[in-house]
Amino acid sequence: MTDIKSKLESLKKEIPEHVKLVIVTKTHTVETIMEAYDAGHRIFGENKSQELINKQPQLPGDIEWHFIGHLQTNKVKYIAPFVALIHAVDSLKLLKEINKQALKNERTIDCLLQFHIATEETKFGLDINEAKEILEAPVFKDMKNIRLTGVMGMATFIHDEDIVRKEFKSLKEVFNRLKESYFSSDDSFADISMGMSGDYKIAIQEGSTIIRIGTLIFGIRYGNF
Ligand SMILES: *Cc1c(COP(=O)(O)O)cnc(C)c1O
Repeated sequence: MTDIKSKLESLKKEIPEHVKLVIVTKTHTVETIMEAYDAGHRIFGENKSQELINKQPQLPGDIEWHFIGHLQTNKVKYIAPFVALIHAVDSLKLLKEINKQALKNERTIDCLLQFHIATEETKFGLDINEAKEILEAPVFKDMKNIRLTGVMGMATFIHDEDIVRKEFKSLKEVFNRLKESYFSSDDSFADISMGMSGDYKIAIQEGSTIIRIGTLIFGIRYGNF
């Protein structure tokens, strides 16, 4: 059994059935990704559009690709034909462009709203009021080719369990408030994407339904990603 396969299997044993695992493949080669594919995994995530566009045609067509990074409006058209879920939508402008490109491709693209939950300044994301503005914007109701299926957030990169847990709790709270106010009769609004290699256990305890894991499967990445 390869190292990747055994790491994947032991991780899968730990994850409850209702939690989806996105294996984060950024910086890794197509050959490395194929090891996880051959071990049976089909859900992968990238955080840079150029890298995703390069790799996607070189890999099997039954992979469910998630875009997990900050997405520039002018890059949406390149991933719109195939992307399964865009995790980090943080503006109405971006949502409009995703809708436009989804329409061109005659499909509906699932999206999550990204929230700023960390104390760090550098992370992208909305606060609850900005999200409400998007959801109450008249143009939002006319977007027929996007579907909001939940929320996403990144905790502070820190070894302080209390801080991380508090941040995940705040995302769960945001999810509950939006669910109640805007999506109470919409079963597809159901996902909370939170948790990475260092904090996924806490994230699952706090209600995560999608975890995004790279390092734990592939080892430490080289370069500053
Ligand atoms: C890189 C990345 C991950 C995975 O991080 P690991 O610590 O390697 O598991 C998860 N989410 C996002 C948005 C990322 O950019």
